[in-house]
Amino acid sequence: MTSERWDGRIRRAQKLSTDYPFATEILRFYAHVAGVQKHVYERVLAECGNTRMQRPTGGLREELDLTILLPEFRGFLGLVEKYGPAALAATAKELAAEDPAKWAEELSAWWAVPDSGGEGATGHRQFCARAFLEPYAEYLAEHTELPVLEMTPSVCPLCGGRPQLGVLREEGDGAARSLVCSLCSTEWRYGRILCPACGESNETHLAIYIAEEMPHVRVEACETCRVYMKTVDLTKTGLAVPIVDEIAAVPLDLWARERDFAKLQVNLMGM
Ligand SMILES: [Zn+2]
Ligand SMILES: [Zn+2]
Repeated sequence: MTSERWDGRIRRAQKLSTDYPFATEILRFYAHVAGVQKHVYERVLAECGNTRMQRPTGGLREELDLTILLPEFRGFLGLVEKYGPAALAATAKELAAEDPAKWAEELSAWWAVPDSGGEGATGHRQFCARAFLEPYAEYLAEHTELPVLEMTPSVCPLCGGRPQLGVLREEGDGAARSLVCSLCSTEWRYGRILCPACGESNETHLAIYIAEEMPHVRVEACETCRVYMKTVDLTKTGLAVPIVDEIAAVPLDLWARERDFAKLQVNLMGM
């Protein structure tokens, strides 16, 4: 594996930031974040190498090598301070002045809680922990054999994280849906007509909304539990980079929230 995937995300964010004025600011900042994440990923790869391992289902969070990560945190905070929106930049500055032992404590605490991303988990310190640890989680996931799944779980089979989004890919005459983990980006198959929050499988309770501006992204909202997520339809465009297109589709989040749906998992940019 290489760090090409980060370059793909950065290029897509730059492209969409000019295509979609409603998302320009958020995507420009995301492109900077992805640039620092790429750097963190490369450091971890250089230290840990390219060996794939077996890890128990959900066991990815039992590892956290802060000896590799902590020396990178100051540089990461410096970039957030430089490019982030004012309030976030202030938090990064505040964190940079703190003792590394406190960083270690805070990063470990964030890492230990698989369910750390629901509505409300949008604090600036949480942003810093998540953005910084995502590349490490992706490294671990890429170097772990995906366990054979006996049933389709509604959380990530490797790290227990919530799905960030869905992806539709062509299969046979139709399309199959996978979910993408919000922390480690692992993808796993999931039923198309099934709410990942409550298990609702009655089609009449599952609404789909598509906005004119971005026809390849849809809201999938469950009227039973009032939770939604977005799904990127790769059968409509092969150019999409799902996690970036999900971030770009801001109008869909506004649409869902106006109708009192809560998001299953807030994305990295706090939407
Ligand atoms: Zn995961
Ligand atoms: Zn539901």
